[in-house]
Amino acid sequence: MQRPDPDPFDVIVVGGGFSGLRAARDLRDAGQRVLLLEGRDRLGGRTFLRPFAGHGQEVELGGTWVAPRFQPHVAAEMDRYGIGLVEGQTGVPRWRWGFDAAPTSAFPLEGDEIYELERAVFRIMEASHRVDPSVPRDRQDLGDLDVSVERFLAGLRLSPRTTRFLAAWGTLGSGAPPEEWSILNALSLMAAFDHSAWAWWAGVVDKFAGGTRTVVEALARDAAPVLELGARVVRVDQREPGRVVATTADGRTFGAAAAIVALPVNVWRDIEFLPALGPAKATLARDGHPNRMSKVWVLVDGGPTDTICFGPGQDLLWLSPEYELDGATLMVGFSAPPSPLDVTDPDAVARAVGAYLPNARVLASDAHDWNADPLARGGWPAHRPGTLSRDASALQEPEGRVCFGGADIATRWIGWLDGALESGARAAQQALAVLRDA
Ligand SMILES: Cc1cc2nc3c(=O)[nH]c(=O)nc-3n(C[C@H](O)[C@H](O)[C@H](O)COP(=O)(O)OP(=O)(O)OC[C@H]3O[C@@H](n4cnc5c(N)ncnc54)[C@H](O)[C@@H]3O)c2cc1C
Repeated sequence: MQRPDPDPFDVIVVGGGFSGLRAARDLRDAGQRVLLLEGRDRLGGRTFLRPFAGHGQEVELGGTWVAPRFQPHVAAEMDRYGIGLVEGQTGVPRWRWGFDAAPTSAFPLEGDEIYELERAVFRIMEASHRVDPSVPRDRQDLGDLDVSVERFLAGLRLSPRTTRFLAAWGTLGSGAPPEEWSILNALSLMAAFDHSAWAWWAGVVDKFAGGTRTVVEALARDAAPVLELGARVVRVDQREPGRVVATTADGRTFGAAAAIVALPVNVWRDIEFLPALGPAKATLARDGHPNRMSKVWVLVDGGPTDTICFGPGQDLLWLSPEYELDGATLMVGFSAPPSPLDVTDPDAVARAVGAYLPNARVLASDAHDWNADPLARGGWPAHRPGTLSRDASALQEPEGRVCFGGADIATRWIGWLDGALESGARAAQQALAVLRDA
């Protein structure tokens, strides 16, 4: 009988975001032959640098801000490739608070609510000190903290206004309503910020010089995998001994001794894994995460635009200035449930901006709808109550010859660019172990 040709690759990496690229680069450093299968016609995944609405200025439609002093993997890549940092604004800006129908510059809490806020922030920081961000949450005694943000805040016995104020900051970090995501996710993020509450908004204001594309290109150049774009994987089959076979939507098959799946957890459900995923991953694949944040760029004339606008009573939870462009201000906004704002609808976006800045004229807007994007199905993850304290390690474990990367299942910066890099490095080491044991 004629032996079939051996596979030309050692490892198949599925997904060409920061995580898959980091995994491919590390495997290449270890002398492995890598095939990278990416469903889009571009690399970078949930990062996407593109010219704003036909103007020269490029904007980040997805992941953007980094904090290398808190983020070891981001710092290491910047160092390796000589990538600089564009520093964002520091100091205390002017605010416009959108908690009521008519936004105002007056701080939304007053009197005893300020004391409540102080007490609540102390309790939140105290709880964050129980989290070691370098260790998966299931290996720490944190089950009592893995409850919804809504339930945690209810336990602090705050007034409705103080609760709403804190919940709004939570939604800014998660894109999810307070009843749907876990305070342990928030506390983990705070712990990664060296337990700073202030850093929740002030810690991540800097960007890569040249944008996220600079990092994507550097990793891709260095990894130099055999690259298939437009290769959406629909099946990962390891029933044949010693081999993983990935099948794409257009029917092509690729085989290797190991595979790395570096995808958003919200698209796991679109892939047929044979044999089926273990219980922790199957549960997350079924339930997904609830982040439905939308990001939008708006060119605004008039103002005042030197102001940060924030509030859960508005369609735009957040709106802040980023660039000067053609004599106007390019602002970045975020919208999250329960607002139904469609950020790809320019008229709706203009109305949402007008609610904060009635004298401003919106000249153009631009967005990518990550929630409608079938290769993302949402933003960065906001894990549901119970997931991290029960399953964090199991989500990172290989299943046979298939290893799993992706920011969504990182240890320290869960859902962030640093977490994507961290998870890619871990998955590459796991794939090397699979190859060694073969
Ligand atoms: C609006 C927004 C703002 C953000 N802001 C920040 C920020 O400021 N700072 C920060 O650190 N992080 C931010 N993030 C998060 C950050 O962008 C992500 O954590 C990171 O990019 C995830 O990288 P990844 O490689 O894990 O996944 P992805 O980037 O999602 O990469 C996965 C890749 O897999 C591909 N793919 C999907 N399905 C398939 C399939 N079936 N077959 C083949 N390929 C497939 C996708 O096209 C994608 O290229 C933001 C995210 C969003 C959406």
